[in-house]
Order: sequence, then C-alpha cells, then structure tokens
Amino acid sequence: MRIIVQKYGGSSVATVKRIQRVAKRIVELKDQNTAVVVVVSAMGKTTDKLVAKAHSITEQPKVREYDMLLATGEQVSIALVTMAIDALGCEAVSLTGAQAGIITDNVHGKATISEIHTERIMKLLNEGKIVIVAGFQGVNLEDDITTLGRGGSDTTAVALAAALKAELCEILTDVDGVYSADPNKIDSARKLDEISYDEMLELASLGAKVLHPRSVELAKEYGVDLHVRSSFNMREGTIVKEEETLEKKRIVSGIASDPKIAKVSVLGVPDRPGIAATIFGALAEAHINVDIIVQNVNREGINDISFTISRDDADHAVATLKKLPQDMCAGGVVVDDKIAKVSIVGAGMISRPGVAAGMFRALADEGINIDMISTSEIRVSCIIARNRADDAVSALHRAFESDLA
Ligand code: ASP
Ligand code: MG
Repeated sequence: MRIIVQKYGGSSVATVKRIQRVAKRIVELKDQNTAVVVVVSAMGKTTDKLVAKAHSITEQPKVREYDMLLATGEQVSIALVTMAIDALGCEAVSLTGAQAGIITDNVHGKATISEIHTERIMKLLNEGKIVIVAGFQGVNLEDDITTLGRGGSDTTAVALAAALKAELCEILTDVDGVYSADPNKIDSARKLDEISYDEMLELASLGAKVLHPRSVELAKEYGVDLHVRSSFNMREGTIVKEEETLEKKRIVSGIASDPKIAKVSVLGVPDRPGIAATIFGALAEAHINVDIIVQNVNREGINDISFTISRDDADHAVATLKKLPQDMCAGGVVVDDKIAKVSIVGAGMISRPGVAAGMFRALADEGINIDMISTSEIRVSCIIARNRADDAVSALHRAFESDLA
C-alpha cells in the first residue's frame, strides 16, 4: 500500500471555505490509489487565543491543564475536515493523538513522542478510509494529554510518516516552500527546489518558521523525504532530503534571523572546575535549551558566563539560576532581550574558507556590531542588536546573492 502523510497548517484550515478546499485536495490524492493520512493544526490563530485565555486567568497555568486546553484546537480541526470529506462522499475518520496511538513522555508543553502504535490507523487505511489525525498532541503513560511544543504538528506528521513507512510526507503551508530568506522581507529571496536535512535543521532552529526543528530531526533520523509546499496552489515546493542525493551543495542556502531570543549573563562566577556543569545542569533540569555560550575571564579567578536562550524561557532561567548557591553568581544575573541572532547556512561552506569572514565584513560595512559568534560546520551565527536584524539579513542576502543562485 502506497501511503502519503499530508500535514495542513493552521492558515490552510483557518476558515470553513479553506477546510472545504483542503478536503477536496485530500480526496484527489486518495483517488490516485493512495492511502492518505492527514495531520491538521488548529484553525488559524486558535492556539494563540487559547494561550491568551489561559494567561488571562493565571500567569502560571498548571502544565497539565495547559495541554488539556491547547489540544482542543486540533480536535476542532480534525472533526471539521472529516465532515468536509464526508460531504464529498468519501469516507474519513478523525483521531485525536491518543486515539492515533501517539505516546509521549511526561514533559507537558514540550513532550517528545516515544512510540506510535499504528494498528488502528493501519486498520482504517486497509478499510479504504482516510485518516485525519490531530497534530501537536499525544498521550503520556498516565493517560494524560500532552502537547509537543508550538508548531509541533509538523513533528506529528513526520513521526507518523516514519511509523507508517509512508512514501512521502507533504507539509502543506501558506508559502510556496523554503526560501533563501524571509520572502516577506527580502524581495530577491528565492525558493529552493531542494535542501538537505542538515541545512533545513539549522534553518528551522534559527527561526525560519516553515518547519518545527524536531520534525526535521526526525525526518533525518528515519530518512523521511519531506515536500514543503503551498496548500493554496499545486506548484512544486521544496524537497528536504539526504545530502548525497542533492545535485550541488550551495555555499550559502539560506539566511535566517531569530528575534525571539534573550542573552543571560551570570556575573562573578568563580573560576574552578564544576561551575559550568552546575549552572548548565540546573538549566537542563529545568528543560531550558541553551544555545550560544561564551565565558570571559576578566578578573583574578572570576569569570562571567553569558548564554542565549529562547526569550520565552528568560524568566524561568533567571528563577532557576537564583536558586543556585549565592557564591556562584556573586555579581548577579542580567538579561538582555534586545538582541537577535542572524545566521547563514550552507552545506558547501565546509570546504570553502572565508565564508565567516565574508559575513563579518558584510555586517561591518553596514555598521552592525557583533556581540557573540557561534559556528557549526554548515552555519555561522552572530548575535546583534534586534533593531538591526532586518538590515543584517538584507546585507547578508546581498553579499551572498551569487552563491544563493
Ligand atoms: N496549533 C499548534 C500551534 O499553533 C501546533 C501547530 O500548529 O503545529 O503551535
Ligand atoms: Mg507550523
């Protein structure tokens, strides 16, 4: 049986009209002798509204109840999409994450899928039915509803594609594919026909919002080919796949900027073994992802350690650090949330010297100061002032234009 998993994002199912259009597209695919599993997000801005409601009642909602609430958005979508397919005379069945056999760990709000029991979906597919699954949610071993983190429906789709050994996972969204930079901001941004998992993973983690980073990680791990394309037209989008099969490696494939970060500086840290382990151990225990870390030695035996995290985690990080022994941060903890990270990503930069220098030159020519730098084999990132982020992306797109083509 040829199985294709399709995922429709919130904007693709934002209205009843759009849901009806999506239903037609699903039925057309099913008619091509294909077993179809569809993952849907909540309609439009539903999840944002649910988050706002929760926070209007309490600043710190209980994580269990928060997931209970957020998961309702997707439940509305699956029922409506299924009804719309029904109205076209085709048989479909909606399943919540739990009904679809999606088991997760216990980390409410950021749960990780641990296993998927596919029997029920396979049975429905074998009966010739279309299966519509609620994205972004699962169930833990205590039978409580969990959610996978904002944007997590992509991850549901890829995990299902892997578990069902689907031929392809189509991510249907409101843009035509993955672009070399945000097309809303850079006129000359171009759509990429193909991109490797590693490049996509870097771009996704850097704030290019098309795909949830965890979904790309899973796709790479299980070799699931992804096709990111528009749900509003039939144009080919971007194929995300293994690097060896790509025609050529670009020096720079994409430029991303992430404004939703904060820098935390721990001041007056004693210079002795075990301090960094304690600080970052505490943050890890609090499930806070740390990105760039810089330690400067400035006075005798005393260091400052700075690191960047998601801005949403800033308060939690400060609270966590304040619980450490006083002498570990004698100079206090300072948060700077007026920063952004701009990055260039390309699989071809491994074998080309001077790419980082080119980036620094382009920023310097624009009068943009670099606060922190980090690199991987296929990425260079700079922390800069947030109010210069758009200028930085434009300058970098211009500087690397010929490589992007
Ligand atoms: N509805 C969830 C969100 O807005 C999950 C998703 O759309 O992927 O984050
Ligand atoms: Mg999304």
